[in-house]
Amino acid sequence: MSLITPQPGIMDIALYQGGAAHVPGVSNVIKLSSNENPLGPSPKAIAAVQNSAAQIHRYPCTDHGALRQAIGAVHGLNPEQIICGVGSDEIITFLCQTYAGPGDEVIYTEHGFAMYRISALAAGATPVEVRERERVTDVDAILAGCTDRTRLVFIANPNNPTGTMIGASEVARLAEGLPSQAILVLDGAYAEFVEGFDGGAALIAERDNVVMTRTFSKLYGLGGLRVGWGYGPQAIIDVLNRVRGPFNLSSSALAAAEAAIHDTAYVEYCRAQNARWRTWLAEALAEIGVPSDTSCANFILARFADQAEAEACDSYLQARGLIVRRVAGYKLPRALRITVGDEIACRRVVAAIAAFKGGAT
Ligand SMILES: *Cc1c(COP(=O)(O)O)cnc(C)c1O
Repeated sequence: MSLITPQPGIMDIALYQGGAAHVPGVSNVIKLSSNENPLGPSPKAIAAVQNSAAQIHRYPCTDHGALRQAIGAVHGLNPEQIICGVGSDEIITFLCQTYAGPGDEVIYTEHGFAMYRISALAAGATPVEVRERERVTDVDAILAGCTDRTRLVFIANPNNPTGTMIGASEVARLAEGLPSQAILVLDGAYAEFVEGFDGGAALIAERDNVVMTRTFSKLYGLGGLRVGWGYGPQAIIDVLNRVRGPFNLSSSALAAAEAAIHDTAYVEYCRAQNARWRTWLAEALAEIGVPSDTSCANFILARFADQAEAEACDSYLQARGLIVRRVAGYKLPRALRITVGDEIACRRVVAAIAAFKGGAT
């Protein structure tokens, strides 16, 4: 037997399944499987990447000062309490690596984002899943799941793949009720889609046990460049910066993110378009017998009669070049997660599901 073995926990990690982008034999596909911005990035972000090209022989800056200043200015946050990462996934990784290890527990919810479990296992910690209440984060269930070994509690608010969110008073009750050695991580990957929502920033200002993560991958349309950030108490951010690689973000990624966050008009436009077509999509699907919970994000979780119907509909859509996301791996076997596309995409997906439901199989 080989003595070359991975650390405990590593082999329990199932490979992350990204949203599909191609269907063999079908051209002109519409990808609605990864919650990307159908309108693309801000033109200013594209220009910033192009302008950065001539300088890519230089190492990028290590402290991300300009981007942190820009984020701080736009969101009214102290730039010193911001850390930037290779997507918010890297901030999640830093948190697990820094605060959880063998014997420690990392809590996330029943339909929570896959990276929480992956990062907990990668750190050698024990992932602990707690139930939700009808696809909504259940604060009481999380508090009941806490022990003296709990080090991190992850909730996405709004959550993926359910699209639901809990209110500020519930989040505050959760933060208040955690054991004193635990950190609450508020994953705000979809916070920008909620008009006027601060992602939990006000709570962070009041407490020493709450961190939020944010991303440029969803509303800002920069998923391909990998930029995210975290905001939290100074003491925690200082610790996370010790494990962060000095050159984790490329100069092109930094330039694009900085341009994107300053383009607030484009952000407003994308948020409004998403809200408009999300409502249209959800109502049109409900009318043809496919209900969904009210979504606060840029996707809806469409519910079918059973797993067989969800899978048949998924195959039907794929054959017509429409790629949505199966979420059986998130314990939602009878649902499909559909990203809110542009008008054409929304109309096409509704027409196809209507044909499927009408027995056109
Ligand atoms: C997409 C997503 C992220 C982050 O993605 P990055 O591209 O790594 O920033 C984080 N959390 C949730 C819940 C997501 O859906």
